[in-house]
Amino acid sequence: MKKVTNNHQIDLPIAVWLLQQGYYSGADVAPKGELISVTTLMKPTRRLILERQVDQNTVQMDVSDLIASRVGHGLHDSIERAWTEGDWKGAMRRLHYPQSVIDRVLINPDPSEVGEDDIPIFLEQRGFKEVGGIILTGQLDFAINGAYRDVKTTSTFSYTSGKKDADYILQGSMYRYIMPELIWQDKMRIEFIFTDWQKFRAKADPNYPQTKVTHKEFPLMSIEETEKWIIAKLSEIQLNAKYTHQQNKLIRCSDYDLWKQADSYKYYANAETAKRNGRSQKTFDNLADAEQHKAEKGKGVVITVKGEVKACDYCPAFSICEQRKEYFPDV
Ligand code: SF4
Repeated sequence: MKKVTNNHQIDLPIAVWLLQQGYYSGADVAPKGELISVTTLMKPTRRLILERQVDQNTVQMDVSDLIASRVGHGLHDSIERAWTEGDWKGAMRRLHYPQSVIDRVLINPDPSEVGEDDIPIFLEQRGFKEVGGIILTGQLDFAINGAYRDVKTTSTFSYTSGKKDADYILQGSMYRYIMPELIWQDKMRIEFIFTDWQKFRAKADPNYPQTKVTHKEFPLMSIEETEKWIIAKLSEIQLNAKYTHQQNKLIRCSDYDLWKQADSYKYYANAETAKRNGRSQKTFDNLADAEQHKAEKGKGVVITVKGEVKACDYCPAFSICEQRKEYFPDV
């Protein structure tokens, strides 16, 4: 088990809440075989292989590192309870749904008993499927009338940049692949609850989310495409597993895996200013434009500034990964 610190003196009521284990792997009810979860499969292969080498007893974690995930879990739980214990019928009436529609809603029914007119809602359902010699498992949070929903507690940047859209689609597609009896629609929605939403920005920018909660719809990958992706990923893991102790041969994390920001190109009229790390005259997002600007000026230098790498900071393989040292050298 990881060693825990509380460097920011988070008070006991909250610290205990943060340390609750919210994860259930489903191993006790899984069919026989090697179990891999959808979220594990989506990790970069390098990370997946190296993190297994790290002795968890040597890893230190601060209680404050758990805040984002516990807040996310807390909101998931609360939404689930609204539909399993809350007055969801009363809420739907207040939202002007006719009684004839409300009467068709079934919460967590037996999928084999769902009739054509029923509107089934499935919550917190775990599924298993054998594929490529392993048992793939995942837990869907919410599906309504065969359409997958997931709640993400995240920054407005995730929403506006679309940087995580491919991951959302992949995750939803794998859940449909595992649980076709619960998800049969080919569109999914992500329900965003923003952690950094600001009213004044919403007023100033029509592209900024207009409320603290919103959603986006995505098309799922086809079943064939999804299966192809899973099998390709499994063989990539298998192929690389033999290089656990030869990191120079191990697959590298891509810029996407690293959450790397784009490189930028700074033009300095005076090379000496660049050497002193002084202020550049202009910054470009591609080298060709920067070089052209230099040619037009007839002097100066272009310096490439590598985009910041973020994922390593959150990666359990940080302490042993050689690639990480390229961005965060040991001191
Ligand atoms: S430490 Fe960085 S480079 Fe290494 S596996 Fe983790 S994310 Fe990839």
